[in-house]
Amino acid sequence: MPRKSPRERRRSPAAKSLPARRRSRSTPGTTRPVARAASTRPGRHLKKRATRRPLASGKGGRKPARTAPRSRARARFRAPEPARVLALLGQLERLYPDATTALDFGTPLQLLIATILSAQCTDDRVNKVTPALFARFPDAAAFAAADRAELEAMIRSTGFYRNKARAILSCCTDLVAHHGGEVPRTLEALTALHGVGRKTANVVLGNAFGIPGLVVDTHVSRLARRLGLTDLTDPVKIEFALMDVVPRERWSIFSHWLILHGRRVCVARKPRCSICPLAVNCPRVSVTTSQ
Ligand code: SF4
Repeated sequence: MPRKSPRERRRSPAAKSLPARRRSRSTPGTTRPVARAASTRPGRHLKKRATRRPLASGKGGRKPARTAPRSRARARFRAPEPARVLALLGQLERLYPDATTALDFGTPLQLLIATILSAQCTDDRVNKVTPALFARFPDAAAFAAADRAELEAMIRSTGFYRNKARAILSCCTDLVAHHGGEVPRTLEALTALHGVGRKTANVVLGNAFGIPGLVVDTHVSRLARRLGLTDLTDPVKIEFALMDVVPRERWSIFSHWLILHGRRVCVARKPRCSICPLAVNCPRVSVTTSQ
């Protein structure tokens, strides 16, 4: 019978049945440490075995796995107490009794155009541009037929003028094609227009039509978190979270209140907590420095 090479001997059934070196345990309980000691570095298989081992409640059992940090953060957030929300609403109402949009407009279309222009731009700057713009383009059909270069030149000072001109042209083309040149009165129809998002649509609904709409801009997002009304960061999710805690008839004015308070007191970098009338009802979430 020809002699087998060492590799063939390992493959043979007889060799398979031979007890492995690690299986010859003399003392119960010593196998695992020996096996680990034989390994020069902890392999993935050892880690897997450790995590798969059933959790023992008795002696020698492993501690339960720790909760993921993300879950802990979500679990920490508690919905605001209705009494505190009502107190905040009352304070804001007394602080800003005349709150309204700072954009100048005479028709829903003009507010729609002004809101598109106000992205990444101050309301004052937009108000300087719009009188000449609305005189040159009196309705949606005129905007839809506008020369792009002329429109861009007129709105250039508001920044991002190419994108804004494109949004105005496509939005007004949609208005003429689908709504007879009129601005629709529903969130769905407004957001279906090119260049119109939820924020712009809610501004138009609340200020031009008196239909409740919760506008979430950078101020509203920041203050909603600092005031402990939500812990979310996505504007659409914040909008829905605030809709749950603020009464529907106050959605529009609540946005104005937070925007004004965010500009005057609860500014982004160093909120003026020492002079803030809301301080007594504000948990100041994530505020590390204030003045
Ligand atoms: S107390 Fe401070 S963090 Fe809270 S709303 Fe006022 S300025 Fe903002």
